[in-house]
Amino acid sequence: MVDCKKKRIVIVGSGFAGLGMASRLLENGIDDFVILEKSDGVGGTWRYNTYPGAECDIASMLYSFSFAPNPAWDFKWAKQPQILNYLEKFTNDRDLYKYIKFGEVVTDAIYSNGRWDIKTKNGTTYNCQFFISAIGQLHHPSVPNFKGKDKFIGSSFHSSEWDHSVKYEGKKIGVIGVGASAAQLIPELAKGAKRLTVYQRTPNWIINKHDRPYSSFEKWLAKKIPFLSKIYRLSLWCQGEFLIWPVIKGAKLRGSLVRRLNNLEIKKNVKNRDKASKLIPDYAVGAKRILLSDKYYRAIGQNNVTLETSTISRIGKRSVETINGNKHDHDIIVYATGFHTNPFLKEINVVGKFGFTLKENWKDGAFAYLGVTTHKFPNMFMLYGPNTNTGHTSIIYKLEAQFEHILKLLSITDDGIIEVRGSVEKQYNIQAQKKLSRLAWSKIEASWYKDGGRVTNNWYGSSYEYNRRLRAPIIKNFIVTTPQIKQ
Ligand code: NAP
Repeated sequence: MVDCKKKRIVIVGSGFAGLGMASRLLENGIDDFVILEKSDGVGGTWRYNTYPGAECDIASMLYSFSFAPNPAWDFKWAKQPQILNYLEKFTNDRDLYKYIKFGEVVTDAIYSNGRWDIKTKNGTTYNCQFFISAIGQLHHPSVPNFKGKDKFIGSSFHSSEWDHSVKYEGKKIGVIGVGASAAQLIPELAKGAKRLTVYQRTPNWIINKHDRPYSSFEKWLAKKIPFLSKIYRLSLWCQGEFLIWPVIKGAKLRGSLVRRLNNLEIKKNVKNRDKASKLIPDYAVGAKRILLSDKYYRAIGQNNVTLETSTISRIGKRSVETINGNKHDHDIIVYATGFHTNPFLKEINVVGKFGFTLKENWKDGAFAYLGVTTHKFPNMFMLYGPNTNTGHTSIIYKLEAQFEHILKLLSITDDGIIEVRGSVEKQYNIQAQKKLSRLAWSKIEASWYKDGGRVTNNWYGSSYEYNRRLRAPIIKNFIVTTPQIKQ
Protein backbone atom coordinates (compact mmCIF):
# COMPACT_ATOMS: atom_id res chain seq x y z
CA MET A 1 0.00 0.00 0.00
CA VAL A 2 1.29 3.45 -0.87
CA ASP A 3 1.69 5.75 2.11
CA CYS A 4 0.88 9.34 1.03
CA LYS A 5 1.86 12.44 2.98
CA LYS A 6 1.09 16.04 2.12
CA LYS A 7 3.54 18.88 2.62
CA ARG A 8 3.97 22.31 1.12
CA ILE A 9 7.66 21.70 0.45
CA VAL A 10 9.83 18.62 0.10
CA ILE A 11 13.59 19.10 0.31
CA VAL A 12 15.74 16.18 -0.81
CA GLY A 13 19.12 15.99 0.94
CA SER A 14 20.43 17.15 4.31
CA GLY A 15 23.89 18.45 3.55
CA PHE A 16 24.83 22.12 3.72
CA ALA A 17 22.23 22.94 1.05
CA GLY A 18 19.21 21.16 2.51
CA LEU A 19 19.91 22.19 6.10
CA GLY A 20 20.59 25.82 5.24
CA MET A 21 17.43 26.03 3.14
CA ALA A 22 15.36 24.49 5.92
CA SER A 23 16.75 26.92 8.45
CA ARG A 24 15.98 29.93 6.24
CA LEU A 25 12.43 28.60 5.63
CA LEU A 26 11.83 28.43 9.37
CA GLU A 27 13.23 31.92 9.86
CA ASN A 28 10.68 33.08 7.28
CA GLY A 29 7.79 31.43 9.08
CA ILE A 30 7.50 28.42 6.75
CA ASP A 31 7.42 25.13 8.60
CA ASP A 32 5.26 22.97 6.36
CA PHE A 33 8.16 21.02 4.89
CA VAL A 34 9.99 17.74 5.17
CA ILE A 35 13.59 16.85 4.37
CA LEU A 36 14.13 13.42 2.84
CA GLU A 37 17.59 12.02 3.47
CA LYS A 38 18.82 8.68 2.14
CA SER A 39 21.44 8.08 4.82
CA ASP A 40 21.08 7.78 8.59
CA GLY A 41 22.46 11.19 9.47
CA VAL A 42 22.92 14.74 8.23
CA GLY A 43 25.98 16.19 6.53
CA GLY A 44 25.86 14.86 2.94
CA THR A 45 29.35 14.85 1.47
CA TRP A 46 30.84 15.59 4.90
CA ARG A 47 29.25 12.42 6.23
CA TYR A 48 30.45 10.17 3.42
CA ASN A 49 34.00 11.43 2.93
CA THR A 50 35.88 10.15 5.95
CA TYR A 51 39.16 9.20 4.25
CA PRO A 52 42.38 9.89 6.18
CA GLY A 53 43.27 13.55 5.88
CA ALA A 54 39.77 14.63 4.76
CA GLU A 55 39.45 18.34 5.28
CA CYS A 56 38.13 21.40 3.54
CA ASP A 57 40.09 23.25 0.90
CA ILE A 58 38.16 26.45 1.48
CA ALA A 59 38.96 28.20 4.76
CA SER A 60 36.28 27.30 7.29
CA MET A 61 35.48 30.84 8.35
CA LEU A 62 34.16 31.19 4.80
CA TYR A 63 33.06 27.57 4.32
CA SER A 64 30.26 27.91 6.88
CA PHE A 65 26.94 29.75 7.01
CA SER A 66 27.23 33.52 7.46
CA PHE A 67 24.14 33.22 9.68
CA ALA A 68 25.74 30.52 11.85
CA PRO A 69 29.33 31.58 12.44
CA ASN A 70 31.57 29.20 14.36
CA PRO A 71 34.30 30.85 16.41
CA ALA A 72 35.58 27.43 17.47
CA TRP A 73 37.19 26.16 14.25
CA ASP A 74 40.38 24.40 15.31
CA PHE A 75 42.24 24.91 12.05
CA LYS A 76 42.07 27.48 9.30
CA TRP A 77 40.94 24.63 7.05
CA ALA A 78 38.74 22.46 9.27
CA LYS A 79 39.06 18.69 9.27
CA GLN A 80 36.09 16.58 8.18
CA PRO A 81 34.99 15.54 11.72
CA GLN A 82 34.71 19.16 12.81
CA ILE A 83 32.73 20.15 9.70
CA LEU A 84 30.34 17.25 10.23
CA ASN A 85 30.09 18.23 13.86
CA TYR A 86 29.27 21.83 12.82
CA LEU A 87 26.41 20.58 10.64
CA GLU A 88 25.07 18.25 13.33
CA LYS A 89 25.16 21.05 15.88
CA PHE A 90 23.48 23.39 13.39
CA THR A 91 20.70 20.82 12.90
CA ASN A 92 20.27 20.52 16.64
CA ASP A 93 20.46 24.21 17.44
CA ARG A 94 17.89 25.07 14.76
CA ASP A 95 15.61 22.20 15.77
CA LEU A 96 15.76 20.71 12.28
CA TYR A 97 15.94 17.01 13.19
CA LYS A 98 12.18 16.81 13.58
CA TYR A 99 11.75 17.78 9.90
CA ILE A 100 14.08 15.09 8.57
CA LYS A 101 13.09 11.59 7.49
CA PHE A 102 16.24 9.47 7.39
CA GLY A 103 16.62 6.38 5.22
CA GLU A 104 14.32 7.82 2.53
CA VAL A 105 15.80 7.18 -0.91
CA VAL A 106 13.93 9.30 -3.44
CA THR A 107 13.33 7.46 -6.71
CA ASP A 108 10.79 9.61 -8.56
CA ALA A 109 9.53 13.17 -8.62
CA ILE A 110 6.43 13.51 -10.74
CA TYR A 111 4.66 16.79 -11.48
CA SER A 112 1.00 17.21 -12.14
CA ASN A 113 -1.28 20.24 -11.93
CA GLY A 114 0.77 22.39 -9.60
CA ARG A 115 1.84 19.54 -7.28
CA TRP A 116 4.71 17.11 -7.10
CA ASP A 117 4.61 13.48 -6.04
CA ILE A 118 7.96 12.62 -4.48
CA LYS A 119 8.24 8.83 -4.25
CA THR A 120 10.70 6.94 -2.13
CA LYS A 121 12.10 3.43 -2.32
CA ASN A 122 10.16 2.25 0.69
CA GLY A 123 6.82 3.04 -0.93
CA THR A 124 5.99 6.43 0.56
CA THR A 125 4.76 9.28 -1.61
CA TYR A 126 5.12 12.86 -0.42
CA ASN A 127 2.71 15.15 -2.25
CA CYS A 128 3.92 18.74 -2.21
CA GLN A 129 3.60 22.10 -3.90
CA PHE A 130 7.35 22.71 -4.14
CA PHE A 131 10.16 20.24 -4.73
CA ILE A 132 13.62 21.44 -3.72
CA SER A 133 16.57 19.30 -4.74
CA ALA A 134 19.55 19.65 -2.40
CA ILE A 135 21.40 16.52 -3.42
CA GLY A 136 24.75 18.07 -4.34
CA GLN A 137 27.02 17.37 -7.27
CA LEU A 138 29.63 14.98 -5.86
CA HIS A 139 28.06 11.84 -4.46
CA HIS A 140 28.17 9.12 -7.10
CA PRO A 141 31.61 7.51 -6.82
CA SER A 142 33.20 6.91 -10.18
CA VAL A 143 35.32 3.77 -10.31
CA PRO A 144 36.80 3.07 -13.75
CA ASN A 145 36.14 -0.40 -15.03
CA PHE A 146 39.78 -1.52 -15.23
CA LYS A 147 40.30 -4.98 -16.71
CA GLY A 148 40.60 -7.53 -13.88
CA LYS A 149 39.37 -5.04 -11.24
CA ASP A 150 37.02 -7.54 -9.60
CA LYS A 151 39.71 -10.22 -9.36
CA PHE A 152 41.87 -8.16 -6.98
CA ILE A 153 42.04 -10.10 -3.70
CA GLY A 154 43.36 -7.32 -1.46
CA SER A 155 41.20 -4.49 -0.13
CA SER A 156 39.91 -1.89 -2.53
CA PHE A 157 37.50 0.98 -2.13
CA HIS A 158 36.61 4.45 -3.38
CA SER A 159 37.91 7.45 -1.43
CA SER A 160 34.34 8.40 -0.42
CA GLU A 161 33.60 4.86 0.83
CA TRP A 162 36.62 4.45 3.05
CA ASP A 163 36.90 1.08 4.78
CA HIS A 164 38.19 1.99 8.23
CA SER A 165 38.53 -1.67 9.20
CA VAL A 166 41.52 -1.91 6.84
CA LYS A 167 44.84 -0.97 8.41
CA TYR A 168 47.12 0.72 5.91
CA GLU A 169 50.28 1.09 7.99
CA GLY A 170 53.07 -1.15 6.67
CA LYS A 171 51.06 -2.07 3.56
CA LYS A 172 51.71 -1.78 -0.16
CA ILE A 173 49.12 0.69 -1.34
CA GLY A 174 48.08 1.94 -4.75
CA VAL A 175 46.19 5.21 -5.05
CA ILE A 176 44.60 5.77 -8.44
CA GLY A 177 43.92 9.45 -9.16
CA VAL A 178 45.51 12.67 -7.97
CA GLY A 179 42.55 15.07 -7.60
CA ALA A 180 41.43 17.05 -4.54
CA SER A 181 40.58 13.93 -2.51
CA ALA A 182 43.85 12.16 -3.40
CA ALA A 183 45.89 15.26 -2.56
CA GLN A 184 44.54 15.04 0.98
CA LEU A 185 44.74 11.31 1.55
CA ILE A 186 48.11 10.60 -0.11
CA PRO A 187 50.18 12.48 2.53
CA GLU A 188 48.41 10.52 5.30
CA LEU A 189 48.93 7.13 3.63
CA ALA A 190 52.53 7.96 2.72
CA LYS A 191 53.39 8.36 6.41
CA GLY A 192 52.87 4.72 7.27
CA ALA A 193 52.80 2.79 4.01
CA LYS A 194 55.51 0.28 3.24
CA ARG A 195 55.21 1.41 -0.38
CA LEU A 196 52.73 3.81 -1.89
CA THR A 197 52.27 3.94 -5.65
CA VAL A 198 50.42 6.95 -6.96
CA TYR A 199 48.83 6.51 -10.39
CA GLN A 200 48.69 9.92 -12.00
CA ARG A 201 47.01 10.57 -15.32
CA THR A 202 47.00 14.37 -15.24
CA PRO A 203 49.02 16.42 -12.72
CA ASN A 204 47.46 19.39 -10.96
CA TRP A 205 48.44 22.95 -10.24
CA ILE A 206 48.94 22.97 -6.48
CA ILE A 207 49.65 25.86 -4.12
CA ASN A 208 50.35 25.87 -0.41
CA LYS A 209 47.51 26.17 2.08
CA HIS A 210 49.63 27.57 4.88
CA ASP A 211 47.30 25.79 7.26
CA ARG A 212 47.66 26.24 10.99
CA PRO A 213 45.63 25.77 14.13
CA TYR A 214 43.82 28.81 15.50
CA SER A 215 45.19 29.88 18.88
CA SER A 216 42.90 30.02 21.92
CA PHE A 217 43.27 33.80 21.81
CA GLU A 218 42.04 33.92 18.20
CA LYS A 219 39.09 31.71 19.11
CA TRP A 220 38.34 33.91 22.09
CA LEU A 221 38.45 37.02 19.89
CA ALA A 222 36.17 35.41 17.30
CA LYS A 223 33.67 34.55 20.03
CA LYS A 224 33.77 37.85 21.89
CA ILE A 225 34.02 40.21 18.92
CA PRO A 226 31.99 38.59 16.08
CA PHE A 227 32.58 41.69 13.98
CA LEU A 228 36.26 40.69 13.70
CA SER A 229 35.23 37.30 12.32
CA LYS A 230 33.06 39.05 9.76
CA ILE A 231 35.98 41.16 8.59
CA TYR A 232 38.17 38.07 8.44
CA ARG A 233 35.49 36.21 6.46
CA LEU A 234 35.32 39.11 4.04
CA SER A 235 39.10 39.06 3.59
CA LEU A 236 38.99 35.32 2.79
CA TRP A 237 36.22 35.93 0.27
CA CYS A 238 38.26 38.75 -1.30
CA GLN A 239 41.28 36.45 -1.74
CA GLY A 240 39.21 34.02 -3.84
CA GLU A 241 37.41 36.78 -5.72
CA PHE A 242 40.41 38.96 -6.54
CA LEU A 243 43.33 36.50 -6.64
CA ILE A 244 41.99 33.16 -7.90
CA TRP A 245 38.96 34.15 -10.00
CA PRO A 246 41.09 36.33 -12.32
CA VAL A 247 43.37 33.30 -12.86
CA ILE A 248 40.40 31.30 -14.12
CA LYS A 249 39.54 34.24 -16.37
CA GLY A 250 43.07 34.07 -17.79
CA ALA A 251 44.93 36.83 -15.89
CA LYS A 252 48.52 36.30 -17.02
CA LEU A 253 50.45 37.67 -14.06
CA ARG A 254 48.44 35.89 -11.39
CA GLY A 255 48.44 32.68 -13.47
CA SER A 256 52.20 32.76 -13.77
CA LEU A 257 52.45 33.35 -10.01
CA VAL A 258 50.49 30.12 -9.38
CA ARG A 259 52.76 28.29 -11.85
CA ARG A 260 55.84 29.64 -10.12
CA LEU A 261 54.62 28.75 -6.63
CA ASN A 262 53.72 25.24 -7.83
CA ASN A 263 57.09 24.69 -9.47
CA LEU A 264 59.01 26.04 -6.49
CA GLU A 265 57.26 23.61 -4.17
CA ILE A 266 58.06 20.71 -6.48
CA LYS A 267 61.72 21.76 -6.59
CA LYS A 268 61.84 22.08 -2.82
CA ASN A 269 60.21 18.75 -2.02
CA VAL A 270 60.84 16.36 -4.89
CA LYS A 271 64.54 15.79 -5.41
CA ASN A 272 64.23 13.03 -8.00
CA ARG A 273 64.27 14.93 -11.30
CA ASP A 274 62.28 12.41 -13.27
CA LYS A 275 59.55 12.37 -10.63
CA ALA A 276 59.58 16.17 -10.38
CA SER A 277 59.21 16.67 -14.13
CA LYS A 278 56.11 14.47 -14.21
CA LEU A 279 54.38 16.70 -11.66
CA ILE A 280 54.24 19.81 -13.81
CA PRO A 281 50.93 20.26 -15.64
CA ASP A 282 50.92 21.27 -19.30
CA TYR A 283 47.49 22.90 -19.32
CA ALA A 284 46.10 26.31 -18.34
CA VAL A 285 46.15 27.14 -14.64
CA GLY A 286 42.61 26.84 -13.27
CA ALA A 287 41.32 24.53 -16.04
CA LYS A 288 40.98 21.89 -13.32
CA ARG A 289 40.50 22.80 -9.69
CA ILE A 290 43.66 24.48 -8.33
CA LEU A 291 44.55 22.29 -5.37
CA LEU A 292 45.68 23.57 -2.00
CA SER A 293 48.11 21.47 -0.01
CA ASP A 294 51.10 21.96 2.24
CA LYS A 295 51.87 18.25 2.27
CA TYR A 296 51.29 16.74 -1.16
CA TYR A 297 54.65 17.35 -2.84
CA ARG A 298 56.49 16.46 0.36
CA ALA A 299 54.69 13.10 0.35
CA ILE A 300 55.40 12.49 -3.34
CA GLY A 301 59.08 13.25 -2.67
CA GLN A 302 59.31 10.50 -0.04
CA ASN A 303 61.42 7.45 -0.88
CA ASN A 304 58.57 5.04 -0.16
CA VAL A 305 56.36 6.77 -2.78
CA THR A 306 56.41 5.86 -6.48
CA LEU A 307 54.78 8.10 -9.05
CA GLU A 308 53.44 5.99 -11.91
CA THR A 309 52.31 7.93 -14.96
CA SER A 310 51.91 5.14 -17.46
CA THR A 311 48.31 4.17 -18.26
CA ILE A 312 46.84 1.33 -16.22
CA SER A 313 46.36 -1.71 -18.44
CA ARG A 314 44.91 -4.17 -15.94
CA ILE A 315 44.50 -5.06 -12.32
CA GLY A 316 45.85 -8.40 -11.20
CA LYS A 317 45.04 -10.47 -8.12
CA ARG A 318 47.51 -8.45 -6.07
CA SER A 319 48.84 -5.85 -8.46
CA VAL A 320 48.27 -3.01 -10.88
CA GLU A 321 49.90 -3.25 -14.29
CA THR A 322 50.61 -0.41 -16.69
CA ILE A 323 51.03 -0.35 -20.44
CA ASN A 324 54.79 0.29 -20.18
CA GLY A 325 55.12 -3.16 -18.58
CA ASN A 326 55.41 -2.07 -14.93
CA LYS A 327 53.73 -4.23 -12.31
CA HIS A 328 53.19 -2.87 -8.79
CA ASP A 329 52.17 -5.22 -5.98
CA HIS A 330 49.43 -3.99 -3.68
CA ASP A 331 47.59 -5.02 -0.53
CA ILE A 332 45.20 -2.10 -0.91
CA ILE A 333 43.94 -0.11 -3.89
CA VAL A 334 42.27 3.25 -3.26
CA TYR A 335 40.16 4.61 -6.08
CA ALA A 336 40.49 8.38 -5.71
CA THR A 337 38.93 8.60 -9.13
CA GLY A 338 36.28 11.22 -8.47
CA PHE A 339 32.56 11.26 -9.03
CA HIS A 340 29.99 10.96 -11.79
CA THR A 341 28.75 14.52 -11.84
CA ASN A 342 26.65 14.25 -14.95
CA PRO A 343 23.80 13.91 -15.57
CA PHE A 344 22.60 15.94 -12.62
CA LEU A 345 19.89 14.36 -10.44
CA LYS A 346 20.51 11.11 -12.27
CA GLU A 347 19.24 8.90 -9.46
CA ILE A 348 15.80 10.52 -9.48
CA ASN A 349 13.31 10.06 -12.30
CA VAL A 350 12.11 13.66 -12.56
CA VAL A 351 9.01 14.10 -14.72
CA GLY A 352 7.78 17.63 -15.33
CA LYS A 353 4.94 19.18 -17.32
CA PHE A 354 3.31 17.05 -20.05
CA GLY A 355 5.54 14.09 -19.14
CA PHE A 356 8.84 15.81 -20.00
CA THR A 357 11.72 14.14 -18.17
CA LEU A 358 14.84 15.89 -16.90
CA LYS A 359 16.88 13.07 -18.39
CA GLU A 360 15.55 13.82 -21.87
CA ASN A 361 15.74 17.59 -21.33
CA TRP A 362 19.40 17.38 -20.35
CA LYS A 363 20.53 14.74 -22.83
CA ASP A 364 23.12 17.18 -24.22
CA GLY A 365 24.18 18.38 -20.76
CA ALA A 366 22.37 19.93 -17.81
CA PHE A 367 21.33 23.59 -17.73
CA ALA A 368 19.04 25.74 -15.61
CA TYR A 369 18.24 29.40 -15.21
CA LEU A 370 20.77 30.69 -12.66
CA GLY A 371 21.20 27.02 -11.75
CA VAL A 372 17.95 27.02 -9.77
CA THR A 373 14.90 26.73 -12.04
CA THR A 374 14.30 25.05 -15.36
CA HIS A 375 11.46 25.45 -17.84
CA LYS A 376 8.89 22.60 -18.04
CA PHE A 377 9.56 21.79 -14.40
CA PRO A 378 7.37 24.23 -12.46
CA ASN A 379 7.65 24.63 -8.70
CA MET A 380 10.97 22.82 -8.72
CA PHE A 381 14.09 24.49 -7.37
CA MET A 382 17.65 23.21 -7.35
CA LEU A 383 20.34 24.03 -4.84
CA TYR A 384 23.89 23.61 -6.18
CA GLY A 385 22.30 22.84 -9.54
CA PRO A 386 23.79 23.04 -13.04
CA ASN A 387 26.41 25.78 -13.60
CA THR A 388 26.59 26.89 -9.98
CA ASN A 389 29.86 25.31 -8.84
CA THR A 390 32.91 27.41 -8.30
CA GLY A 391 36.66 26.93 -8.57
CA HIS A 392 37.70 29.87 -6.44
CA THR A 393 35.44 30.43 -3.47
CA SER A 394 33.04 28.89 -1.00
CA ILE A 395 29.99 27.14 -2.38
CA ILE A 396 28.22 28.01 0.89
CA TYR A 397 28.33 31.69 -0.10
CA LYS A 398 26.52 30.84 -3.33
CA LEU A 399 24.08 28.50 -1.60
CA GLU A 400 23.02 31.35 0.65
CA ALA A 401 22.18 33.43 -2.43
CA GLN A 402 20.14 30.48 -3.72
CA PHE A 403 18.21 30.25 -0.42
CA GLU A 404 17.22 33.92 -0.71
CA HIS A 405 16.33 33.49 -4.39
CA ILE A 406 14.05 30.56 -3.61
CA LEU A 407 12.45 32.38 -0.67
CA LYS A 408 11.59 35.30 -2.96
CA LEU A 409 10.14 32.98 -5.60
CA LEU A 410 8.09 31.17 -2.93
CA SER A 411 6.70 34.45 -1.69
CA ILE A 412 5.58 35.62 -5.13
CA THR A 413 4.08 32.22 -5.97
CA ASP A 414 2.08 31.81 -2.78
CA ASP A 415 -0.23 28.85 -3.48
CA GLY A 416 0.22 29.04 -7.26
CA ILE A 417 2.66 27.74 -9.84
CA ILE A 418 5.95 29.30 -10.88
CA GLU A 419 7.98 28.44 -13.92
CA VAL A 420 10.91 30.18 -15.55
CA ARG A 421 10.13 31.33 -19.08
CA GLY A 422 11.65 29.00 -21.70
CA SER A 423 12.97 31.93 -23.76
CA VAL A 424 14.66 33.47 -20.70
CA GLU A 425 16.34 30.21 -19.76
CA LYS A 426 17.45 29.59 -23.34
CA GLN A 427 18.95 33.06 -23.68
CA TYR A 428 20.62 32.77 -20.30
CA ASN A 429 22.25 29.49 -21.24
CA ILE A 430 23.49 30.74 -24.61
CA GLN A 431 25.14 33.65 -22.78
CA ALA A 432 26.48 31.37 -20.05
CA GLN A 433 28.09 28.97 -22.50
CA LYS A 434 29.57 31.86 -24.49
CA LYS A 435 31.19 33.27 -21.37
CA LEU A 436 32.28 29.84 -20.12
CA SER A 437 33.99 29.13 -23.44
CA ARG A 438 36.48 31.93 -22.66
CA LEU A 439 37.43 30.61 -19.22
CA ALA A 440 40.19 28.19 -18.22
CA TRP A 441 37.64 25.40 -17.60
CA SER A 442 36.98 25.21 -21.34
CA LYS A 443 40.67 24.94 -22.14
CA ILE A 444 40.93 21.28 -21.22
CA GLU A 445 39.30 18.30 -22.88
CA ALA A 446 37.72 16.68 -19.83
CA SER A 447 37.11 17.32 -16.14
CA TRP A 448 34.24 16.79 -13.76
CA TYR A 449 33.16 20.35 -14.59
CA LYS A 450 32.26 19.26 -18.11
CA ASP A 451 29.76 17.04 -19.88
CA GLY A 452 31.24 16.42 -23.31
CA GLY A 453 32.22 19.80 -24.72
CA ARG A 454 30.05 21.92 -22.39
CA VAL A 455 30.93 23.19 -18.95
CA THR A 456 27.82 22.10 -17.07
CA ASN A 457 28.92 22.41 -13.45
CA ASN A 458 30.48 25.83 -13.00
CA TRP A 459 29.16 29.37 -13.14
CA TYR A 460 30.70 31.81 -15.56
CA GLY A 461 31.18 34.86 -13.36
CA SER A 462 32.40 36.10 -10.03
CA SER A 463 30.59 34.94 -6.93
CA TYR A 464 29.68 38.58 -6.23
CA GLU A 465 27.86 38.77 -9.56
CA TYR A 466 26.08 35.48 -8.88
CA ASN A 467 25.01 36.67 -5.46
CA ARG A 468 23.75 39.98 -6.85
CA ARG A 469 21.64 38.33 -9.55
CA LEU A 470 20.18 35.68 -7.28
CA ARG A 471 19.18 38.01 -4.50
CA ALA A 472 17.22 40.28 -6.83
CA PRO A 473 15.28 37.94 -9.13
CA ILE A 474 13.70 39.54 -12.20
CA ILE A 475 10.09 38.63 -11.63
CA LYS A 476 9.05 39.08 -15.27
CA ASN A 477 11.38 36.18 -16.16
CA PHE A 478 8.93 33.82 -14.50
CA ILE A 479 5.35 32.84 -15.27
CA VAL A 480 3.25 32.71 -12.12
CA THR A 481 -0.21 31.17 -12.35
CA THR A 482 -2.84 29.82 -10.03
CA PRO A 483 -3.43 26.08 -10.30
CA GLN A 484 -6.40 24.81 -12.26
CA ILE A 485 -7.32 22.52 -9.44
CA LYS A 486 -6.92 24.03 -6.00
CA GLN A 487 -5.42 21.56 -3.59
P1 NAP B 1 38.62 14.48 -9.23
O1 NAP B 1 39.11 15.83 -8.96
O2 NAP B 1 37.65 14.29 -10.34
O3 NAP B 1 39.90 13.57 -9.45
C1 NAP B 1 39.79 12.27 -9.95
C2 NAP B 1 41.17 11.75 -10.23
O4 NAP B 1 41.07 10.43 -10.72
C3 NAP B 1 41.89 12.56 -11.31
O5 NAP B 1 43.24 12.64 -11.01
C4 NAP B 1 41.64 11.72 -12.55
O6 NAP B 1 42.58 11.90 -13.58
C5 NAP B 1 41.76 10.35 -11.96
N1 NAP B 1 41.15 9.32 -12.79
C6 NAP B 1 39.86 9.20 -13.14
N2 NAP B 1 39.69 8.14 -13.94
C7 NAP B 1 40.93 7.59 -14.10
C8 NAP B 1 41.42 6.50 -14.84
N3 NAP B 1 40.60 5.74 -15.59
N4 NAP B 1 42.74 6.22 -14.79
C9 NAP B 1 43.56 6.99 -14.05
N5 NAP B 1 43.17 8.04 -13.34
C10 NAP B 1 41.85 8.34 -13.37
O7 NAP B 1 37.92 13.82 -7.94
P2 NAP B 1 38.14 14.15 -6.39
O8 NAP B 1 39.58 14.20 -6.08
O9 NAP B 1 37.29 13.22 -5.62
O10 NAP B 1 37.61 15.62 -6.25
C11 NAP B 1 36.37 16.00 -6.83
C12 NAP B 1 35.94 17.33 -6.28
O11 NAP B 1 35.49 17.12 -4.97
C13 NAP B 1 37.01 18.38 -6.16
O12 NAP B 1 37.31 19.05 -7.34
C14 NAP B 1 36.43 19.28 -5.12
O13 NAP B 1 35.52 20.18 -5.67
C15 NAP B 1 35.69 18.29 -4.24
N6 NAP B 1 36.53 18.00 -3.07
C16 NAP B 1 36.60 18.98 -2.17
C17 NAP B 1 37.36 18.80 -1.09
C18 NAP B 1 37.41 19.90 -0.11
O14 NAP B 1 38.36 20.00 0.57
N7 NAP B 1 36.42 20.78 -0.04
C19 NAP B 1 38.09 17.64 -0.88
C20 NAP B 1 37.99 16.62 -1.83
C21 NAP B 1 37.20 16.82 -2.92
P3 NAP B 1 42.34 13.00 -14.73
O15 NAP B 1 42.58 14.33 -14.05
O16 NAP B 1 43.32 12.67 -15.76
O17 NAP B 1 40.93 12.86 -15.17
